[in-house]
Amino acid sequence: MALRDEYRRHSRPVLKTRRWQVLRQVILERDGWACVDCGTRRGRLEIDHVKPVRDRPDLSFDPGNLATRCSPCHTKKTRIECGHPEPSPERRAWSNAVTSLVADDATPDIRRKRCWTQ
Ligand SMILES: [Zn+2]
Repeated sequence: MALRDEYRRHSRPVLKTRRWQVLRQVILERDGWACVDCGTRRGRLEIDHVKPVRDRPDLSFDPGNLATRCSPCHTKKTRIECGHPEPSPERRAWSNAVTSLVADDATPDIRRKRCWTQ
């Protein structure tokens, strides 16, 4: 099993809970509905487990372990956690160009899948 699937397998049950849905709103409010890395308020904002659920399940609902990140910043962080190298500048420029062509409300799963197959 790929490591990223392993991470997802651990976080999915957390993300399904009512508790998470409420907490998610709290974190978005706390972070001012902006990505903590790049500050963007555009696009899809996600709540990142700073320490992955796989490693620290006890911190799954700890606000101190949660941060608002935009999809590109979240993906970048997860890639590094999963041991993927940083994409080359050329690859990143291409990725950004393609992402900018995709509407903000496009199906997130498709956007994510494209990131992972780079
Ligand atoms: Zn960002």
